[in-house]
Amino acid sequence: MATHRLPPFSRPTRTPTGRPITALICAVAVGAAAACAPSQGAVAPSPAAAAPASAGVGQSTGTLGAPGIGDPDFPGDGNGGYDVRHYDLRLSYDPSSRKLAGSATIEAKAVQDLTSFDLDLHGLTVSRVSVDGAAASFSRSKDELVIEPARRIRNGDGFAVTVDYSGVPEPMHDSANLGRYGFIATPDGAFVTCEPNGAKTWFPSNDHPADKATYDFQITVPEGLTAIANGEMAGTPRTAAGKTTFVWREKHPMASYLATMTTGKFQVRTGTSEKGLPIYAAVADSFRGSLDTLFTQTGKITDYWSTVFGPYPFSSTGGVIDDYAAGYALENQTKPIYGGFSPEPAIIAHELAHQWFGDSLSIGRWRDLWLNEGFATYAEWLWAEHTGQYTADSAFRRYYENAADPMWTYPPGAARADDLFSAAVYNRGAMTLHALRREIGDQKFFPLIRAWADAHRHGNVTTQEFVALAERVSGKDLKGLFDAWLFQPKRPAPVT
Ligand SMILES: [Zn+2]
Repeated sequence: MATHRLPPFSRPTRTPTGRPITALICAVAVGAAAACAPSQGAVAPSPAAAAPASAGVGQSTGTLGAPGIGDPDFPGDGNGGYDVRHYDLRLSYDPSSRKLAGSATIEAKAVQDLTSFDLDLHGLTVSRVSVDGAAASFSRSKDELVIEPARRIRNGDGFAVTVDYSGVPEPMHDSANLGRYGFIATPDGAFVTCEPNGAKTWFPSNDHPADKATYDFQITVPEGLTAIANGEMAGTPRTAAGKTTFVWREKHPMASYLATMTTGKFQVRTGTSEKGLPIYAAVADSFRGSLDTLFTQTGKITDYWSTVFGPYPFSSTGGVIDDYAAGYALENQTKPIYGGFSPEPAIIAHELAHQWFGDSLSIGRWRDLWLNEGFATYAEWLWAEHTGQYTADSAFRRYYENAADPMWTYPPGAARADDLFSAAVYNRGAMTLHALRREIGDQKFFPLIRAWADAHRHGNVTTQEFVALAERVSGKDLKGLFDAWLFQPKRPAPVT
């Protein structure tokens, strides 16, 4: 996600209405003035203080699946007892009534015996649940959908649960400093950005990045609208009785918060990058003047990152500008979305870098968020370096010189649930990578970054794994460097 800050040396871009993006972003980070101001930080636990969450394995009681996947800072997110393999989502949305009707089939594998398990679902009315074709009983408790299959599911068995549901989706807006996210209705459709846990606002899910899965989407909207999801479109949209159905498939594993079903009136341009990668770019009508720039920059930057980070991890790239003034961008897999502004290249570079760091390599617990945002912010500096605007070293020094910056009291290696998207996670995270680059040199640093992206392609990662790889590639003991930059609530000693 790129939010409440611009690259260190860029001027604010202006929206079509002439308001600077920075002001817009702060104004629209709903209910969260704090989102615009870095927190004062807190003493963080040591990196080893909490075990990483592992996919599908929460703390369970007997044969009951756990209501959380085991993330210590987001205990209700995700679920335990099973591992999702695939989501098949059949969805119909009517912007005039704001009603969503869905049937979600979730293919999963049990990692323990299960007489009961949970899915995450926020609001909406469930009409029927079946497991392997047999009706199952279910109940609701806050954002948990608790399912009791007719027969016990055995440890190791695959199963398919189908949930039929409908209602008016309600976005999330109650989490500290996260703003408004999830399924957000717009006059002509919906703007759907779900980090960190808003997938449950539109489909029942194991809503945590520790459990990635592949996706099929079949989305029906009134004729004349476009429905955009992840991956690639399968076939031509079909129209019947005034409604059009779009079929999309994301065949690579994806974290639930990166899924989207953004819909509305869009201008679309498709084609390929110079390296031959398919591109899908879409802009709301009011941003039609930005379509060609979005298309061209997206192809160019994706191609460039593939020379820096290694092969692009997915089978298409793209971008969407919607006219909902979120004031932030999110790295939805294969199709970053820009909420109500034409992104400057630095923001596109940030979101596309996330395709490697955040999307292909996903964190297993939210406190490791610097592995997403530190890398994507550092990518902005690398892009500036590549295009001759400023060097990463000058950006680093500029931040370092401000001894009063609140980020020095917020250790970015332990992102806080109550201030998850702190500027410290972004900027001090990026500075960590630059301090590492200075310590081990470009000859080791860039091969390390490529090795990192390659070793964990489509998987989950932890900070400890990155530290271990950095030490292996460089042959140096780097524990002191990472401890000072990621885990101490004070400004590290100057980098020599
Ligand atoms: Zn980001």
